[in-house]
Amino acid sequence: MGSVMSVTDTEKSTIPTAAGTPGATAGTSVPNGGRHLAPNYKPLDVTIATAQGSWVTDTAGARYFDALAGYSALNFGHRHPALMAALERQLGRVTLTSRAFQFELMEPYADALVALAAAQGFGALDMMLPMNTGAEAVETALKAARKYAHTVRGIAPDAGTVIVADGNFHGRTTTLISFSTDPDAHAGYGPYTPGFVVVPYGDVAALQAAVDAAGDTLVAVLLETIQGEAGVIVPPADYLPAARTACDAGGALLILDEIQSGLGRTGYTFACQNVGDADDAAGTPTGSDARPVAVCPDLMTLGKALGGGILPVSAVLGRRQVLQVMTAGTHGSTFGGNPLACAVGIAVVDLLQTGEYQRAARELGTIMHTRLQSLVAQGQLVASRGRGLWAGIDLDPARGTGRAFCEQLLSCGVLAKDTHGSTVRLAPPLSTTPDDLNWMLDQFEATARAF
Ligand code: PLP
Repeated sequence: MGSVMSVTDTEKSTIPTAAGTPGATAGTSVPNGGRHLAPNYKPLDVTIATAQGSWVTDTAGARYFDALAGYSALNFGHRHPALMAALERQLGRVTLTSRAFQFELMEPYADALVALAAAQGFGALDMMLPMNTGAEAVETALKAARKYAHTVRGIAPDAGTVIVADGNFHGRTTTLISFSTDPDAHAGYGPYTPGFVVVPYGDVAALQAAVDAAGDTLVAVLLETIQGEAGVIVPPADYLPAARTACDAGGALLILDEIQSGLGRTGYTFACQNVGDADDAAGTPTGSDARPVAVCPDLMTLGKALGGGILPVSAVLGRRQVLQVMTAGTHGSTFGGNPLACAVGIAVVDLLQTGEYQRAARELGTIMHTRLQSLVAQGQLVASRGRGLWAGIDLDPARGTGRAFCEQLLSCGVLAKDTHGSTVRLAPPLSTTPDDLNWMLDQFEATARAF
């Protein structure tokens, strides 16, 4: 594990000891008292100054294990040496060309991402379209699906249905929040984009009924392979295969959003490679690297970890016959596929091609899920689920909120994030060590017992 070791060696030498008292100075206050910053976030009371690997240091010098990892953007840890080197090399050459001109790493980046997919058996996804944020990638996928429906399948320009799932989180643009079922994300931003039908996530019969109702006007089914923001919700084993079959019957597209779940997080390069895995309860993938492709989407959205936690880098990976409808001038982005993004994106693909991080997610995930399941069995947690090194943990709401739990964790030197009241997410960097992970889980366990 060459590149992984180089990070973890650094981390190991700096594991906080009892004397080191990580998190002891939590409460380092918001700079400027928040007077000039719009209040659309309510961060925990810690101000981070530096970071390396799995660890961050606050402005007062206290250290914390980062168990959120930028919502999976930091799958390779903070400032991974290979990614930083790729960035620095590119910084010395050219940082922005715009797509008005060609750039030497543009095609190699596209080739690399397509080759990564092909190596996993997803050779059907032979084209990519680079964007920046996750929301832009999902918007791009929806635009491509609609245009394909109108220009290739003959669906009328003002018709067409996209089926989405209850509890979805695909980003914050006006269209994406139009079909969000989270009142905080949705309310107050109307008028909303039409053309979306929401069904309960994981319910095959409801999905089939909506597909039947849409009939010939079904453009696409858009789903998170595993729902992240909803609390790491893994759908039943037959759900994504059923979605694939339902789309195939009418020529509609299956779009899988792997922005949070993809690129190693769940133990495989793509989260949809977990489909068909024997183990559904404990969240530990049982397979090896070699996976038969159970479900291949027509379009897949990637982001977060694609930029290595360094830059916003996203992409739609998809079938040529679909993505080729995005002809010159019909879609674009000033920064999409910029030189820095290409350089970092290629370096990220190189890391993933080794398989080390996917394997680490499976092995470390086994440790994490085993310990969490044991806390569930002891009645300290209501439930825990997930895949690979990713867990959604339900607390007993009577004992306190997820936010309060995360504040307790912070004071023990662990950064984590709550979601939807009483759920806490853990998504440590895949580059972490068993020792560091167990240390974090010790803090989690102590917090759960005291909560
Ligand atoms: N899709 C999924 C599944 C996500 O989890 C997120 C962000 O959390 C997004 C899309 C949006 O990504 P971004 O915040 O980069 O726009």
